[in-house]
Amino acid sequence: MNRKIASHYALIDSHLERNIVIEVDSQRRIVAIDRVANIDTCAGVEFYSGILLAGMVNAHCHLELSYLRGAIAEHTGFAGFAREIGRVRNNFSDEERIAAATAADAQMWQEGVEAVADIANDELIMPIKERSNIRYHTLFELFGLNNTSLDAHVKMASSPSTSITPHSTYSVQDAPFREIAERGTAPLSLHFLESDAEAALYCHRGSLYEWYERMGWSCDFLKYGMPAERIVESIPAERRTLLVHNCAATPIDVMTIETHLRNVSWVLCPESNRYISDVCPPAAMLSSMGVNIALGSDSLASARTLSMVDNMRLLSDIPLVELLLWATKGGARAMGWDDELGDLRVGTSPGIVLLEGADLQQLRLTPTSLTRRII
Ligand SMILES: [Zn+2]
Repeated sequence: MNRKIASHYALIDSHLERNIVIEVDSQRRIVAIDRVANIDTCAGVEFYSGILLAGMVNAHCHLELSYLRGAIAEHTGFAGFAREIGRVRNNFSDEERIAAATAADAQMWQEGVEAVADIANDELIMPIKERSNIRYHTLFELFGLNNTSLDAHVKMASSPSTSITPHSTYSVQDAPFREIAERGTAPLSLHFLESDAEAALYCHRGSLYEWYERMGWSCDFLKYGMPAERIVESIPAERRTLLVHNCAATPIDVMTIETHLRNVSWVLCPESNRYISDVCPPAAMLSSMGVNIALGSDSLASARTLSMVDNMRLLSDIPLVELLLWATKGGARAMGWDDELGDLRVGTSPGIVLLEGADLQQLRLTPTSLTRRII
């Protein structure tokens, strides 16, 4: 039987609309959206107090790291975090990893996440994602300066909902980076300028450079001079690309990349940046440049929760409607899912989520704001 979901506010086609009734069939498909004069007198509707929005798209997650919740201290800094994760990641059993990922997947669904761009290093939790109500695209990341063969990744990334990506512009040598960039058409997702140590590496200085020196690791890609230039010279213009974090990105980095890549999105994970380095990504700068922005949770190794609202709350200088668009449409567009997801549209099944506890006069999140799934 069809359900009629009603609210005083709904985010539709990038606008906050008033007095909306959304009719949904038993397959979760939206069959009608009606604007009514007085919603309080409508009969046969389920009324919700708050803002209705499409199911959210988490544009950057590592579900497989859910078992590391609380295992790494906050504010270790960027290089410290990379060292710590290497130290603790082998201290847990497969059962513990699977249980943690199962719980995190269930919670994301309940909170209204419809689809996830998920980074992975192995296949342990693939069955969880295959069974999940959430739509996952898994990007197996090539990581490590000594890791130059794609053979294992090619084997893992054999289904249409999987692909291969380089981890970042500082952790993968030149040949495998270019090989991945030129292979296939699935999105790439790179950790990008999470810290100023990445750009400093290309100038032979900074904490990352010093760490690599101590370990005796060499990089054959510093010839590009800067991370943005490496992207421009290595990734084909038409390849869909998600750049994640961007904390140390300058307007010149953004312009350089936007001029070259036709389909690039800027993914922000503010809770992870706060957790690791107590910094905030340049959300206002990116917004003013008119680029496509999406939100991600990163992993429970570097976030207290995977909540999209917790991430939005950290970007309090951005208007609420814009944040909600980043969490829905922005993520869907980043992954090429915007025909089906990210907006409340007749004929599609994007899921319906309620944001409650927001200040609807000021249009701001409050400490008690949360999202929950309605459809
Ligand atoms: Zn990440």
